Amino acid sequence: MRCRVSEQICIPYGRQSVDEADIQAVVDVLRSGWLTTGPAIESFEKAVANFVEGAHAVAVSSGTAALHAAMYAIGIGSGDEVIVPPMTFVSTANAVIFQGGTPVFSDVRAEDLLIDPLLIEEKITSRTKAIIAVDYADQPCDYKALRKIADKHGIYLLSDACHSLGATYQGRPCGGLADLTVFSFHPVKPITTAEGGMVVTNSAEFAERLYRFRTHGITTDHWQRSEQAAWRYDMVDLGYNYRMSDIHAALGMSQLMKISDWISRRQKVASAYDLAFSGSVIAPLRCRDEVSHAYHLYVVRVPNREAVFKRLRSKGIGCNVHYLPVYLHSYYQQRLGLPPGHCAHAEAAYAEILTLPIFPGLTCEQQQRVTSALLEIIQ
Ligand SMILES: *Cc1c(COP(=O)(O)O)cnc(C)c1O
Repeated sequence: MRCRVSEQICIPYGRQSVDEADIQAVVDVLRSGWLTTGPAIESFEKAVANFVEGAHAVAVSSGTAALHAAMYAIGIGSGDEVIVPPMTFVSTANAVIFQGGTPVFSDVRAEDLLIDPLLIEEKITSRTKAIIAVDYADQPCDYKALRKIADKHGIYLLSDACHSLGATYQGRPCGGLADLTVFSFHPVKPITTAEGGMVVTNSAEFAERLYRFRTHGITTDHWQRSEQAAWRYDMVDLGYNYRMSDIHAALGMSQLMKISDWISRRQKVASAYDLAFSGSVIAPLRCRDEVSHAYHLYVVRVPNREAVFKRLRSKGIGCNVHYLPVYLHSYYQQRLGLPPGHCAHAEAAYAEILTLPIFPGLTCEQQQRVTSALLEIIQ
């Protein structure tokens, strides 16, 4: 992220870690002859599926492409409704619209900003096809309660786990908790491929649809045709070019090896923040006992957020705000026209939330600068 203060003293809110092994992995692909849709994709898909305990993983070009592909896999089309939380990145809701559906915003809980299972049922209509749960900040949603609702109404449960690779819910990793789970590998996310995404599912049928969607709706890819020495292919449905390259996949594979160390480091940073802010008006979001929170984001509520944000930024601290409730963006105002107050908890939280720097390479000295700057501003 950019910073107006000199690079040396700027602390971003999130930052990738790239080492020599990552660089070597990328160079190896460049020398191998297979730049895309080759063996590195399959290895990376298998490794992620294994890590998150899902049966199938399909790599795509971004988290947004992964969400779009998931909407296609469950057959979202014109007139269909999909329940989403407002406290998320815009692409969770955009993906519903890509396929002609309508996102229906259902409020989050005040304490952890996760979609509130108690409020979902009143949003369900005969057109509702799915719920997308967003593991905000890296904390898994209440999958047990969500599954109950989905099963009761015969709709799909999807997980936008773009924040939560490596987090667990009741001892199980995010990846096998929903019918389809979506990950992003953007540089600020838990691991990076520069740009990239993945959909994980236990359904072979969904996996088949995902493979097809990422390559123009064609039933075999270049690699498979080359293996089978065949030229014939058939386009059976409208798809996109959402493929990930082997260069990206090799970087992702190398990054994945380090994720456990990185999560411990993030958890240590989070505990240090918790400790520093205890007894102050700076209020971290609640973390439930039944989850292992991997802290993609560290979010606090503060009074006078706008002023605090500006003063921290002026001190070279790259704090951020996640997120403006999606339906308040101009596009959504024009399209859906939902009035202010539509999701009261999300809007109230939006006025107070601040994301503080957290990433594996954040040094203790940098973290101390953040905490003392914030405590000083708040006084
Ligand atoms: C980052 C993110 C996305 C989109 O991922 P990209 O790889 O940037 O397309 C979707 N949902 C959430 C919650 C995200 O944080």
